[in-house]
Amino acid sequence: MNTLPEELIRSLRNIESFNEETFKAVHESGGQITSIRLNPKKIGNRQSAIGNEQLERVPWNEYGYYLNERPSFTLDPLFHAGAYYVQEASSMFLEEALKQTVDLAKPLKVLDLCAAPGGKSTLIQSIISAASLLVSNEVIKTRVHILAENITKWGAANVIVTNNDPSDFQRLPGYFDVIVVDAPCSGSGLFRKDPAAIDEWSENNVLHCAQRQQRILEHVIPALKDGGILIYSTCSYSKEEDEAIADWLVGQRTATCGSAVGSLQLAVHDDWGIVETVSEKEKAYGYRFYPDKVKGEGFFIAAFKKAASGNGINNETIPSRAGQRSKKKTAVFTAKEIEILKSYIIHADDFFFIKQNEEVIAMPLHLENELPVIQSALYLKKAGVKMGTLIRNELIPDHELAVSNIISDSIPRLDIEKETALQYLRREEIKTTPGKMGWILLTHMQLPIGWIKAITNRINNYYPASWRILNK
Ligand code: SAM
Repeated sequence: MNTLPEELIRSLRNIESFNEETFKAVHESGGQITSIRLNPKKIGNRQSAIGNEQLERVPWNEYGYYLNERPSFTLDPLFHAGAYYVQEASSMFLEEALKQTVDLAKPLKVLDLCAAPGGKSTLIQSIISAASLLVSNEVIKTRVHILAENITKWGAANVIVTNNDPSDFQRLPGYFDVIVVDAPCSGSGLFRKDPAAIDEWSENNVLHCAQRQQRILEHVIPALKDGGILIYSTCSYSKEEDEAIADWLVGQRTATCGSAVGSLQLAVHDDWGIVETVSEKEKAYGYRFYPDKVKGEGFFIAAFKKAASGNGINNETIPSRAGQRSKKKTAVFTAKEIEILKSYIIHADDFFFIKQNEEVIAMPLHLENELPVIQSALYLKKAGVKMGTLIRNELIPDHELAVSNIISDSIPRLDIEKETALQYLRREEIKTTPGKMGWILLTHMQLPIGWIKAITNRINNYYPASWRILNK
């Protein structure tokens, strides 16, 4: 284990809850914790699907479990089916923070601003209602792919993945009910998990991150509705990135921008080991996760509510696009094509279809007015569920449809054993007898993993080439 930076330890000594001895010991122990969060729409809490052992629950998350050891997730077909997400346990507390501050039964517009690779977004999607919208954004282009892949595997139709700078969200004033900013940070909270990161830590970088965090928040807060909830989190222990940001949000930022942001206190169970802190000036609440006190890595989270501003900055709303559903988009499909598309999905009347570069996308009907608004303001990487391409009244189905939660139960399926599933996921030729010709949905433990097409004497493997597993 690399030695923890002395400057970091020194800066933490004046935080009341910090215990230098146990903090250093837990880092030196080299212990590793593995946790996963099940996908409620795919396997719910059917824990048996991921092994027969009785697993310990993550106390602050309904679907979070600790694993006794770290398996090879790559060699588990259920991982590729989106049955669960491998997520650090402390950060699963976002669920508790949202449950305590937001009425999740309502139709909400939620923005996850710093979303790649998708841990928080998949969590958010699991707890918002089907009538809600999640905009999952990542500014760094090279990281949007992995975000889109994870969102695809999660299977939900009510997510739009965007690739925008936080400042672009100023084009959507007062639009979101909830904004989650899981900010880029100096990363000290992950030192136990990734000791190599210790060498990259510096006081200068902490200050640089703090400035960036302020800038990100400054840019995105106008997109939050009056009365909306902001959740801010980092995986840094440094006050400059945690309590000082909370202080700035509630105090200085509020003073200069007029739109008040108030801190919210969260209830934490004594047994959880989470430490509540208050910021120096504004007494804003924050919640610290130390690895010597919780079963998880270092994390900080704080919740805020934007007050009704009354100054005109934030209470503008986006002009309604009601009724603007483009006739052109629906008219591109014949009645026969619509019939074919609908035959592939459940609750087909709750969706509308759009064509983009010959590919058909299914979007929940309740997002019909939202899609053009988002499209006019942001760069969309993915929206809804890509169904595939229509060619002469046949749908060449897309992988997104296979692993989505909207795929119809009446599509021919073939359940395969783990070894055959792994051959499929490696894009190897698979030897099985499907018993019928045409498009077949392969499943493992009844969960869809992708398409094959059975033709005379052959089975074609349609697993996406760029996703294939290379690991033997
Ligand atoms: N929320 C993600 C999850 O749970 O899987 C992890 C997010 S990570 C802590 C922070 C993210 O912020 C990274 O994906 C990073 O690319 C992105 N980021 C970096 N610079 C940024 C900036 N200036 N504005 C917004 N996001 C930024």
